[in-house]
This record gives sequence, structure tokens and C-alpha cells, in this order.
Amino acid sequence: MTELERSIIARVRVEPGENVSLRERDPRDSRLFGEEKGTKSATAALAKEIDALQDRLYAEGSRALLVILQGTDTSGKDGTIRNVFNATGPLGVSVTPFGVPSKAEQAHDYLWRVHAACPRRGTIGIFNRSHYESVLVEKVRNLSSPELIEQRYDQINAFEKHLVENGTTILKFLLHISKDEQKERLQERLNDPRKHWKFNPGDLDDRTHWDEYQDAYDIMLQRCSTPHAPWHVIPADRKWVRNATIATIVKATLEEMDPQYPKAQWKPGAFTIS
Ligand code: AMP
Ligand code: MG
Repeated sequence: MTELERSIIARVRVEPGENVSLRERDPRDSRLFGEEKGTKSATAALAKEIDALQDRLYAEGSRALLVILQGTDTSGKDGTIRNVFNATGPLGVSVTPFGVPSKAEQAHDYLWRVHAACPRRGTIGIFNRSHYESVLVEKVRNLSSPELIEQRYDQINAFEKHLVENGTTILKFLLHISKDEQKERLQERLNDPRKHWKFNPGDLDDRTHWDEYQDAYDIMLQRCSTPHAPWHVIPADRKWVRNATIATIVKATLEEMDPQYPKAQWKPGAFTIS
């Protein structure tokens, strides 16, 4: 891992038990990167490296990478997937969005649908929202009792540990945007007919609970950033900084995993193709 990668990770990673306050983290932080144009082309190059590493992961076929994206509406979860994984071969990637649980999902415990969507060996799985909604929206909107929610932090840590011990590396990214930036992005969705489909009047409702969500994020970060599955708080007001930071961490993590092409079970010289 390079010095730069190390310092980027150190800046955004939440240490286990760290007392995090999102209000003290600058969503516009861009100190680790140079100017926008150069950073964007560096990110495009990282996306290609991620693809090459993904090819090795797929060939090796024994481990998986799970990337969890959380963040409020308009925080850029879709944009991150589009920009960081746009060079990755579709064969080895799955993207799963988690919305309001269906009737069938509600008939099970909250981790049921999540476990079913976890990436198979050799692949990268991306969660657009995740089981963390069960300690975010469900907490803020009182959809579950405080007692149930309180138990979930430990349950989630145990669940993620189970995944890690069975061959899945986990990276968690909270896309941190400011309330002003969200206002601009929501306004864009209202103004641009091509973005109307992304606008949901319920998003305005969530916006009125902004402070409660920030508090719920703080608790989630403090209780669920573990040595085996760390949280990263990504400054996300600037899309190019967001993409560059996440691409850097994904690439560095895959490099650390160092997947290997399997050795052939036959002698390459033993065959002639007529
Ligand atoms: P979007 O990501 O914009 O498609 O919206 C998905 C919606 O589903 C968000 O408003 C989430 O808060 C909501 N959602 C996701 N998981 C849950 C859950 N466990 N309970 C209630 N709402 C959820
Ligand atoms: Mg939405």
C-alpha cells in the first residue's frame, strides 16, 4: 500500500469504538487530492485496476468482497457505483438495492434478505443501502422498538464477523453530505424531467428528520466500526472526491487481498490444438 493510500484510509476510517460526530467532519474535505481534472482521470485508472484485480478474484474463486454503501437521499450511492465499478466486468459483480422490506421480507428477521444477497465466492457484491437501515430509518421512524434496535448493533457485528470468517472482506462507506448540498441536489431532481423519477416526496419528509439521522449515523459508526468490518466516512459533497476516495480504498483492499490465478492442473506443454 502506498503512503498516499495509507493516509487517505487513515483520514476516513473510523477506529473501533471511536466517538464519531459527523457534525465535526467536513463533507467538502478535499485536502488529500489535487485538482479535479487530474483526480478524475486517476479515478478512471483506478477503476481499470479494480477490474484487473476482480478478474484475479473471480479466477481464484475462493473469496468475496462486500462493499456497503449508506447515505441519505442524493448522497451519491448510485453515482459511486457508476463511477468506481464502471470498468469492472459484469460477470463478477452484483448490485443489490435495499428498499422498504416486502411482505415476504417482513415475514423474516431483518438479516434474512441481506444474507441471501451476499456475494458468492469470486465476486464483488455492492449493497445500495443495507441491513444498516434497520438501525437508521427504523430507528428514526420508530418502525422497531428501541429494545430491538439496541440489540441489533451487536447482532450486525456478529453477522459481519461470520461473513468475514467465511471468506468475505467487508468495506463500509457512509457518504457524508451537507444539508445544503442535499437541498441543491433535490432541487435538481425537481427541475430536471430526466431526474423526476429519482424524486420521491418521502425524501422531503426524511429531510425534516436530518438531525435525528445524523445522530443515528453517529451511533452506528461508533458501535459497528469493527476491526473486521470498518466504516469509512466519505466526504461526499464533491462527487469527484467521493469517487476518488472510495476507488482508492477498494483498489488498495483488493490489492491487500492479493487474489491469485490458480495453477493449471495439467501441463501447458501437454496439449496441441489442431
Ligand atoms: P431509495 O434508496 O431512494 O430507492 O429508497 C429506498 C427506501 O427504502 C429508503 O427510503 C429507505 O429508507 C427505505 N428502506 C430501506 N430499508 C428499510 C427498512 N428496513 N425499513 C424501512 N424502510 C427501509
Ligand atoms: Mg431515494
